[in-house]
Amino acid sequence: MDLGYAGRVAVVTGGTSGIGLACARLLLAEGASVAICGRDEARLASAREALGGGESLLAHRCDVLDGAQVAGFAEAVRGWRGRCDLLVNNAGQGRVSTFAETTDEAWREELELKFFSQIRPLRAFLPLLRASDAAAIVGVNSLLALQPEPHMVCTSAARAGVQNLLKSLATELAPAIRVNSILLGLVDSGQWQRRWQAAHAETGIGREAWFASLAAKKGIPAGRLGQPEEPARAILFLGSPAASYVTGAQLEVSGGVSRFL
Ligand code: NDP
Repeated sequence: MDLGYAGRVAVVTGGTSGIGLACARLLLAEGASVAICGRDEARLASAREALGGGESLLAHRCDVLDGAQVAGFAEAVRGWRGRCDLLVNNAGQGRVSTFAETTDEAWREELELKFFSQIRPLRAFLPLLRASDAAAIVGVNSLLALQPEPHMVCTSAARAGVQNLLKSLATELAPAIRVNSILLGLVDSGQWQRRWQAAHAETGIGREAWFASLAAKKGIPAGRLGQPEEPARAILFLGSPAASYVTGAQLEVSGGVSRFL
């Protein structure tokens, strides 16, 4: 099936590692021009190298929580290609904390990260999306939105709100812009790598053993964590012209770990 990305322009926030980097790689392979962002110049440079550089890639330093930087990123894309067909709002990370551990400041930070990592890029790229005849947004979210975990209490609550927001946007922006979301389970990417490194520093546990015990502890029916390409492929489908009648949908990519219908 041709997803229809040839000649199109995609923007992926948080494209320097994990799922965002995998999305950028797949989009480039499909013939799209791809703009990625991240907060760190060195990580942007290594992502640019990993993606083979070239004219079809724009790597721009931008913190999605900084309105001026996000506006600058949109301006750079406008100057580069003049429009945006797909916005993948992917930048972010989770926060591990129970209610007792979560301060008011931590709540504010988490709500800011989860909501404004969607809201700011959306506002900034809206005019460029409106210049497309097949515009789409994919919000990268977590199963925690529907299945909260007590050890990730504020992330779970924030993600539920984001899921609600994305559903509203699918209505408000229709029919010009489709809005869909991905609900992730556990994917072996930068944040889990960092958590393994912390465990390794403490106990010396090897990478394979730590990831296998994590999958067993979480009861993932697939028996393993996902690889970044797996959600990336789902994101590419939802964001593509091939998914022209899909909007307001949420697609779970979790190896079957959810326990709801
Ligand atoms: P990674 O840590 O591998 O990638 C996160 C990316 O986001 C990096 O490119 C990082 O770059 C960027 N980023 C983080 N904060 C910002 C910011 N404020 N502004 C711009 N870029 C930012 O993690 P994943 O690939 O796993 O994460 C992708 C998304 O999926 C995240 O939103 C995460 O919360 C979500 N998710 C992941 C799950 C998993 O199991 N992996 C589960 C549920 C949700 P840099 O640090 O250089 O800015």
